[in-house]
Amino acid sequence: MSLYWVGRAGTRRKTRRSERGRNRVYTVVMKRLTVVLLAVGGVVVLSLALSGAFRGGACPPSSEPSVTVVALDAGHGGIDPGATAGDVYEKTITEQVVTKLAALIRELPDVEPVLTRVADETISNADRVQRAEDAGAVLYLSVHTNASTGSQAHGVEVWVDKTRSLEDPSFALADAVLSELVAATGARDRGIRSGELYMHRASMPAVSVEIGFLSNPKERARLLDPAYQELVAQALFQGLARFLVPEPTEEETPSSAS
Ligand SMILES: [Zn+2]
Repeated sequence: MSLYWVGRAGTRRKTRRSERGRNRVYTVVMKRLTVVLLAVGGVVVLSLALSGAFRGGACPPSSEPSVTVVALDAGHGGIDPGATAGDVYEKTITEQVVTKLAALIRELPDVEPVLTRVADETISNADRVQRAEDAGAVLYLSVHTNASTGSQAHGVEVWVDKTRSLEDPSFALADAVLSELVAATGARDRGIRSGELYMHRASMPAVSVEIGFLSNPKERARLLDPAYQELVAQALFQGLARFLVPEPTEEETPSSAS
């Protein structure tokens, strides 16, 4: 908008100057020039506005930094405990990890987390996604712990809804989150999996991360440890950061950046 007003002020100055012209011809020429300048200026202003709109607000006014909202979903909650192992509930661990992750994100000046559930709340899957949509979240990360009928299964995996194509950014998000999680924890990499998830409702990139098996005694002990939860939260944080701000690839040149 500043360009528009600078243009208008400049035009007014030219018009005033023309009125002080020595003869009528000079005045007419200046008036025509003014019309041309207004027309050209209008096209330029419109072009700038449209290019800004199509960039999705990538270049916001410097005085008003835009805030990126990320949706964090602590799996299960309330009457739904998720996986259980004795008195250990999945819903408790997911809430603890998401709380730690949210705290890390809140330290960033331009990123804000929105939590799909608060405390030990019963909330439908549809309402979880709706809360993310209402907040204008750019991504959706659901956190879960896994369980198996045997006690041997262990490791971490990330799920993407099966309705998403391989070109969907959900897969890039899944890759960033999984690789950071494996690197930080040393947990077994069980890969990116595609299946039927409720997140097909989400319009933004959405993944579900399984941060370990409650049915495995060793992994359960790690998942209950606040220090390990912090490690997991930091890895998820790094994964989100890598997705939101991808490292430039070699083929990218400075001129291609905008
Ligand atoms: Zn779960």
